[in-house]
Amino acid sequence: MSYLCKELLKIRYYMDKIQMVDLKGQYLKIKDEVDREIFEVINSSGFIGGEKVRRFSDNLAKYLDVKHAITCGNGTDALQIALMALGLKPEDEVIVPAFTFIASAEVIALLGLKPVMVDVDYNDFIATAKNIELAITSKTKAIIPVHLFGQGANMEEIIKIAEKYDLYIIEDNAQALGADYIFSDNRRQKLGTIGHIGCTSFFPSKNLGCYGDGGALFTNDDALAEKISMICNHGMKIRYHHEILGVNSRLDAIQAGILDVKLRHLNTYCKSRQDVARAYSHVLKDIDELICPIEREYSTHVYHQYTLKVLNNKRDELREYLDKNGITSMIYYPIPLNRQEAFTGIASMAGDMSVSDKLSSEVLSLPIHTEMNLKTIHYISTKVREFFSK
Ligand SMILES: *Cc1c(COP(=O)(O)O)cnc(C)c1O
Repeated sequence: MSYLCKELLKIRYYMDKIQMVDLKGQYLKIKDEVDREIFEVINSSGFIGGEKVRRFSDNLAKYLDVKHAITCGNGTDALQIALMALGLKPEDEVIVPAFTFIASAEVIALLGLKPVMVDVDYNDFIATAKNIELAITSKTKAIIPVHLFGQGANMEEIIKIAEKYDLYIIEDNAQALGADYIFSDNRRQKLGTIGHIGCTSFFPSKNLGCYGDGGALFTNDDALAEKISMICNHGMKIRYHHEILGVNSRLDAIQAGILDVKLRHLNTYCKSRQDVARAYSHVLKDIDELICPIEREYSTHVYHQYTLKVLNNKRDELREYLDKNGITSMIYYPIPLNRQEAFTGIASMAGDMSVSDKLSSEVLSLPIHTEMNLKTIHYISTKVREFFSK
């Protein structure tokens, strides 16, 4: 085969490969509305702040049934601003799971606070209330539960602990926007609105993603809301009067316009992801060397990721097999935070992190998004089955 021929085949392979997300397909369905929003902003030249940002914040707060939604530059900023708003001081300890994206813990260390890592539950990848309680010392000031992969941490238990030890709760809800928490009295509340502050990300591949970077903070506390707004905007309420130290972190008007359109579809998007997940689990649940994701009774699951556990050291081999068959899969997360070099000498571990370690060698996330059709789901699950029946 000629060189050119081989290169063309390679390009074809990458073009046809099943990707983790299909943002283009999703865009095409809402193109007219989204394009109108973008061009309105360009025509008005009001790129920063203004009506579109206000409107989106209001609609998001209404959707979540929370008093305040304050937009900012990205999800990592949201977490940092939350810690700043709570007035934590150097040496204060903040509890965070070891099995999460680095942002959850990075901002703690950047502010000179101490990240204290706790291990997670093997079944749902999320830090248990028991591990959190065991990590509490006289210096502990806050807990950051992470609603990983689209499902909630056990908030009812975590609230009990926070009340008992007088701690703040900052929910990292970058992956579970739209999911409901279900209290034992059957009361439902959106994840991200339960702790003192909730944080989310509008990174393009998140469940509510924009076409660039974006994030938001949620709170029902008026004083905290005011402080958060000030911190997002250089610590000022009145222009050029800086009462406290802040940062520059804002959602731009184009992103707000796009997000406002997509927010109207968020429930449908969540439903599509749930349908994909259930279809996968239906086909894969009886494979001995696989464990499918579980759904807790206290939280709905909006499947930011559909994450399998692959037993007997077969994960990497399965991933390669899927890749050869034109299917992308991802490892979230290959190295738990307790093994990240950046935290050496900075973070401490409360107990052993054996579950996080084990998970990072077993997890494999399959493509899941709002545009997946039955044929693709069938193809992927058939290939996974085929691998285990070889
Ligand atoms: C994506 C993500 C973040 C950070 O969001 P960015 O907008 O990328 O800064 C934080 N925590 C978790 C769990 C995430 O998945």
